[in-house]
Amino acid sequence: MSLYRLIGEFLRRHWVSYASSGVMLAGIACLIVWIPRQIGHLVDGLAAQRLSGKALLAELAWLLAAGVVVYFLRVGWRLKLFAAAYRLGVELRQRLYARLALQGPQFFQRRRTGDLMALATNDIDAVEMAAGEAMLAGFDGTLTLVLVVAMMSLGVDARLAACALLPFPFMAWSFWWISRHVHTAWRLSLDRFAALNDQVQETLAGVRTVRALGLLPRSQAQFSQLAGAAADASLDAQRWEAAYEPAVGFTLSAAGVATLGFGGWLVWQGQLTVGQLTSFTLYLGQLIWPMFAAGWVLSLLERGKAAWGRLQPVLDAPLSVDDHGSIAQLTPGTLAGQGIRFSYPGQARPALDDLSFELPAGRTLGLVGPTGAGKSSLIRLILRHYAPEAGSLRWSGADVHDYTLAALRGAIAWVPQEAFLFSATVADNIALAKPDASREQVIAAARLAAVHEDILRLPQGYDTPVGERGVTLSGGQRQRVAIARALLVDAPLLLLDDALSAVDTDTEARILAHLREARVGRTVIIVSHRLSAVADADHTLVLHGGHLIEQGDHAQLLSRGGWYARQWRYQQLEASLDAD
Ligand code: ATP
Repeated sequence: MSLYRLIGEFLRRHWVSYASSGVMLAGIACLIVWIPRQIGHLVDGLAAQRLSGKALLAELAWLLAAGVVVYFLRVGWRLKLFAAAYRLGVELRQRLYARLALQGPQFFQRRRTGDLMALATNDIDAVEMAAGEAMLAGFDGTLTLVLVVAMMSLGVDARLAACALLPFPFMAWSFWWISRHVHTAWRLSLDRFAALNDQVQETLAGVRTVRALGLLPRSQAQFSQLAGAAADASLDAQRWEAAYEPAVGFTLSAAGVATLGFGGWLVWQGQLTVGQLTSFTLYLGQLIWPMFAAGWVLSLLERGKAAWGRLQPVLDAPLSVDDHGSIAQLTPGTLAGQGIRFSYPGQARPALDDLSFELPAGRTLGLVGPTGAGKSSLIRLILRHYAPEAGSLRWSGADVHDYTLAALRGAIAWVPQEAFLFSATVADNIALAKPDASREQVIAAARLAAVHEDILRLPQGYDTPVGERGVTLSGGQRQRVAIARALLVDAPLLLLDDALSAVDTDTEARILAHLREARVGRTVIIVSHRLSAVADADHTLVLHGGHLIEQGDHAQLLSRGGWYARQWRYQQLEASLDAD
């Protein structure tokens, strides 16, 4: 869809606002062309000494009243128009947000956060201006132009009007030429602003690392370079926009010279009065606005087109996770994988290869293996962040892709490796997925996650704000708040993806004991590097390089004497050394 179609559709839906602005603008245009005509009469009346003092005052009062009406109409159309254009901005932002919310990790791997933020702010502002100011300035300018030219040719002298308009084709050509450069310059400027946004967002998100590694001077130099490049591009765009003005000035000066030369000759010949020439000159002055409006409209449209060219691919990007499933109700049953093979986009080596397992409802599955073994990848497949290339993943007899995303994800409580907390209070963070939970329920979940005592020690207890991303909490506290959040929703499947890595072994044991007590009917998958976390699991899968190399319960895995048994011995030895 082009920018013009987008604006056209929006105009159709909000035609009442645009039409009332148009009527007000038409009123202004009529009054504006009436004023010079009236002044012309006044001048001729004064020159011929036809006007009495009273009549002169009455004429002036009419002119003043016209000026006041024009003022109010101008305020009126702006209010109507901008209210409509802001609505387009809101609609586009809602569309963008809704689209981004549906996209999966694959999409966000390709797009950078700062760029997406720039689209939601800078680029949508530019489209909004094209639908608002540009449309009405275009309408107003065209209307004024038509009326003024009509008054010049029909109301004064057609020959003089034709002579005065001779330089205008030059202006049309220069506007066309400048617009092409304005478009390219704005596109570059928007791209560079997005790159600057990316840099700021990334540096602020990783400010602790940047400071700790002494990278501040380098990141400052990078910022200066990007800020300079963005400013240069913006200046270049403004420079091209400024080129409209001299073109207008040159055209109008040439038209003025032609008017005075030819008009003076007509007066000398007795074919035109001085009053008519005065009116004509005033009309010529009134062409300044339509000319400037044309330049302004073109630059706003070019900027809008450049912004829309960046925005549209994101709005139309196919969803990296489809939602074509039809089963809206999930009755917990066995979760089973059959010959699963999965590779990340662009990766030659599969992250999971020929993986089969079965997890009956209410049981606990352990997932262990060295780093990069594919443990989190299996969790991502269950959550449908990605789809397997081969094999199937079924839950309660149906493929996970046959469920609607809402049904599937509503049945899963997931605690990721890196717990994400929002800048709200501890209680609000725990009750994130169940905002109507009572304080007692929140506390019960916090007790299960062994974080209740920690929370009570915070300055305002459960009402303590945790700062952006939970910066005021330790890594272990963050993890346990995230576990409490997952436990509060009481979903049939709980996924703990290395969610106990930042807590000590005693706390881990307490959380797991609480989980066992509170587990009634809940299926749990525990991913962990520490084997003590899965020692009590009903079944454990050992992955290595995407392959299933061992499986069984704790005792069976120890008796096999493989990777699990070796790791267990090593970790036990480490724990006993730590205890000494
Ligand atoms: P860890 O214990 O370190 O978390 P893991 O067993 O959970 O590791 P996965 O995260 O499943 O391992 O990764 C399996 C393989 O897939 C690794 O080789 C990893 O480099 C690769 N991988 C993971 N995420 C992506 C991604 N988004 N894009 C491309 N490759 C990825």
